[in-house]
Parts: sequence; structure tokens; C-alpha cells
Amino acid sequence: MSLSRGRDLFLTPGPSVIPDRVLNAMHKAAPNIYEGPLLAQTDAIMARLKTVAQTDGWPAIYISNGHGGWEASLSNVLEPGQKMLALATGRFGHGFAETAQKMGIDVEILDFGTTTGFDPQRVEEVLRADVNHEIRVLTSVQTDTSTSVNNDIPALRAAMDAARHPALLMVDCIASLGCERFEMDAWGVDVMVAGCQKGLMTPPGLAFTFHNEKAQAVSEKVNKTSPYWDWEPRVKAQMFYQKFGGTPPTHLLFGLDEALKMIVDEEGIENVWHRHRVQAEAIWAAIDVWGKAGALRCNVPERADRSTAVTTVVSETHDLTALRGWCQDKAGLVLGIGLGAIWPDPDRIMRIGHMGHMNPPMLLGALATIDAGLKALDIPHGAGALEAASAVIAAG
Ligand SMILES: *Cc1c(COP(=O)(O)O)cnc(C)c1O
Repeated sequence: MSLSRGRDLFLTPGPSVIPDRVLNAMHKAAPNIYEGPLLAQTDAIMARLKTVAQTDGWPAIYISNGHGGWEASLSNVLEPGQKMLALATGRFGHGFAETAQKMGIDVEILDFGTTTGFDPQRVEEVLRADVNHEIRVLTSVQTDTSTSVNNDIPALRAAMDAARHPALLMVDCIASLGCERFEMDAWGVDVMVAGCQKGLMTPPGLAFTFHNEKAQAVSEKVNKTSPYWDWEPRVKAQMFYQKFGGTPPTHLLFGLDEALKMIVDEEGIENVWHRHRVQAEAIWAAIDVWGKAGALRCNVPERADRSTAVTTVVSETHDLTALRGWCQDKAGLVLGIGLGAIWPDPDRIMRIGHMGHMNPPMLLGALATIDAGLKALDIPHGAGALEAASAVIAAG
């Protein structure tokens, strides 16, 4: 019999849990989109977005999901036929590259597998070999949500500088913004792309690009073919509607405004990063204990390569789709599916999203529920996972 009669808990890696405050902020009549409070509210949103991204560059907001954000970022700095180097450590690195290919961009993919971050040494070698500097943009994903690999972006910048290569560094932070430490300007990132429905705790529908002077200079020479994705009218808008290429996404802006106040003004971005790290370490501690007696492990062996926003769990021997099903049907805990593209058998992977609006009772409740599922399905697992997780929370 199902025991699930409380509020369901969705720990898929996006859309993430939406705070009640964000939902309530959206519950309003339509505003005036030509004058009045919405204009100042949008300016405040832009300012807080820059704090979250740690940049003095230009933010642009698009009514879109992350896939559109990819197209927005690429179309402003690349033309068909131009060269781009795409680093991949999972499905989303490849997805970014495939979007570029479909736009006619000449893409070279450097595939670093699915369990470690990219190797800056190899990136440096490839850049050094590009003596004519044909590569115009290097794309990377900070947290690849399929594998839960987190990449070392400052090391990537260092590799580009060591090779004295002028390409733009473009980073997908769709899963990691508002979860994982990210300092756009200090780290030398030229273009960053994000979405609202993961670390930013807002219902899906907004994508963001952020870019610096160097990317702006490149974009001014690009022959742009898409008026919608063009960031120029958005960042240099004369009229309010130009910021959105048309009608603003009024209620998503209301929600985002509330979420950004929670992140930037109330909790503070440093605390947000710290909280995600502590909660991720609690999850890893539990998985390590479960794994001692058998069937489960984190997909990414090295902690330094792990995302603090999502954890991909692998079993060589047991069906994790069944475990997910038990958690969902019996207990109301919804976990993330395994993306088969990164593993021969998607039933041997599942993902725990731990991004955004999450606290220890949610986290420890989820781990206890998974523990119960392991017992119910006779999946071998070490004892004491919950104690290990609570000890991490106690120290955090
Ligand atoms: C979710 C995600 C995307 C895709 O975003 P959509 O909103 O689903 O289009 C791209 N990259 C990363 C790293 C993601 O986590």
C-alpha cells in the first residue's frame, strides 16, 4: 500500500523544487508592460542576476528553456562555417555541440568520457596545435547534469592562456548557477548561459546569457541571422519591450524576482554555495556507506570532479529504475532518470537532484526513503548511511 499522502518531493535535476514564496509572488493580476513597477523590477532582477553570476558584464533574458539559451549564446558570436571546440563530459556537452552543428558551425568535439572532469593539458595541446587560431569559441559545461561531473573552469581558462589562444570561453551553467561556486569575471569566462528552473528555483521558461566586453566586440562583427536571439537590442534596449524581444514574461519575472531576493539578499551567494556543498557531501557519505555492501556507487569517483547540484548513482548489478519506482509509488519521492546516452543501460543509473530550494529535512528524508527502498527491494547495501549523512549535516 502506498504511504504517500503528504507533499511529494521532486528531486529530479530540474525543474527543481519551487519555493512557495516564488509561487505566491506569481499569483497576481497582469501588470502594465509599458510603464510602472515592472520596469524597475526588471532592473533589479538584472542587478541580482549579475551578483549570482559574479559579473559586471551584460545579462540578457530570453523566453526560452536551456536549449534556446544554447542557440542564443552561439548565434551571437559564431557564424555558419566558423570553428568551435566543444568539451564534453556527458550528454549536455554533446547537446551543446549538436546544437552548434545544426546551426552550421564547424564543431570539433573533445570527449573526456563520463566520469571525470576534462583534462586541461589535452585542451592546451589542441589549442596550441591550432596555430592559425581558427577556433573562435571553446564551449564547456560546468556541471554536466547527466553524469554529475563538475568541471574546473579556472583550470580551463589557465589552459587557454597558457596556449595564448584568443578563443572565447563559453560556459553552460544551466544546472550549476545558484548551486556551484561560479565567478564569471574572476575566472575569465567570456559568455555564460543559464536557465531559471534549476538553481534559480523558478518555473521553466527563462534562459539567460551573460557576456563580457570581449564577447561584445566579437558579436559586433558577426553576421547575425536571428533577430530573436540577438543580444544587442536586449542589452542596449531603448524601449522596455526590446529587453525581451516582445512581450515580457511577466509572471516568470515576478517569480524570478522573489527567488533572486532569497538567494542574493537573504541567504547570500556564498552561503548558497556552502549549503549546496554540505548537502552534496551528506548525499555522497550515504552513498559511500550503501556501496560498502554492494550495489551502489557515485558515478564520479573523485570528489573534486563531482557536482554539488546533482549526483548520478550507478549500480552494476541492480535495477535502479525499480528503486526509483518504489520511492515514487510508495513514498512520493521522485528521483531523476538515468540518461541512457551516457551508460549502456539506463536502468542501472538514477540521479538525485539536490539543487535550489532544499534543506536537511528534505535531504535526510529523501536519503531515508531511498534506504527504505533498498531494504524493500532486497538490494544489498551497507548499514549506517543515514548516520553518515547526518554527521555531515551536523558538521556543516
Ligand atoms: C537542463 C540542462 C540543459 C537543458 O536545459 P532545458 O531547459 O531542458 O532546455 C542544458 N545544459 C545543462 C547542463 C542542463 O542541466
